Amino acid sequence: MKKTDKSAVLLIYTGGTIGMKESGHGLVPFDFSQILDEVPELQKFTFKIDSYTFDPLIDSSDVEPGMWKELASLIKEKYDGYDGFVVLHGTDTMAYSASALSFMLDNLAKPVIFTGSQLPVGSLRTDGKENLVSAIEVASSRDARGRAVVPEVAIYFNSQLIRGNRATKVNATAFDAFRSPNCPPLAEAGIKIRYNKAVIRYPSQEAPLVIHTNLDTRVAILKIHPGITEQVARNVLLGSGIRAVIIETYGSGNAISKPWFTDIIRESAAGGKILLNITQCLAGDVNMNLYATGKALKEAGVVSGGDLTTEGGLAKLFYLMGEYADNERVKLLLEKNLKGEISK
Ligand code: ASP
Repeated sequence: MKKTDKSAVLLIYTGGTIGMKESGHGLVPFDFSQILDEVPELQKFTFKIDSYTFDPLIDSSDVEPGMWKELASLIKEKYDGYDGFVVLHGTDTMAYSASALSFMLDNLAKPVIFTGSQLPVGSLRTDGKENLVSAIEVASSRDARGRAVVPEVAIYFNSQLIRGNRATKVNATAFDAFRSPNCPPLAEAGIKIRYNKAVIRYPSQEAPLVIHTNLDTRVAILKIHPGITEQVARNVLLGSGIRAVIIETYGSGNAISKPWFTDIIRESAAGGKILLNITQCLAGDVNMNLYATGKALKEAGVVSGGDLTTEGGLAKLFYLMGEYADNERVKLLLEKNLKGEISK
């Protein structure tokens, strides 16, 4: 890995705990210049670190697709001027935003590294400093040929770098807040940052960055649970204004085998809805050939999400539906690995 003083990183601050302080009525984001005061270590980097602050700064619980569009457009606009980008973001929806950006940025040849923290950067035991400093290190890293070591949208958190569209927040309080249950980390940080080059995706060709900002958000998520009523299933699976439904199933993709449920699924698929099967389990994948309850879904026209996370599946649907009006095309592409989001 070679680093020269020519590296340049753009730090994009969107909000989140990392830049918050106590206001008397809960934590609220503060001005970015104060983050730089809180982390004087940043001055030790020998390359240029510029910053860009979103207005307004938000708790990431308020993230909307409009913010992803702004982020993608900003990265496109600044792309040639920087070797990498670090996005400071709240942890609550970081996996959604990183998933979305992974689909919205095409031909990405530079790192876009999301990070944040569980404790504000100004607090004594903060995890924010290490997360920020290492995320910048990753974003600036280039190999001997000058290529980015991680030309991907990824999340750096608690010593691990994981692919953005494989990430999920698993802990509300521990520093170890994220997991990539179905894909090994892209890097692990100890004394050195060890990159897992067999897992990192590199662009197959040199091509200009293209951004896709047309997102279709008409997606509902239905979590199957014992006691789910026919009315609830009907409202979601046959609801108007809904183009796709993520069905969060049990285990390897199983749902209720009762005829009333299968009938609703059939009616929904026949009515043109895109139905995507994602397991509620943290790890493993959907296999609708294993049990009769899964087979019934497959026969009714439900698409397998494989080992997609719900965050990744939602982002993939937003992106594909924004790109294609034809639902059959969307269904075909859902089962293809587009950005490393599924294991096949
Ligand atoms: N609520 C905060 C947010 O997502 C939590 C965090 O940043 O960790 O913005």
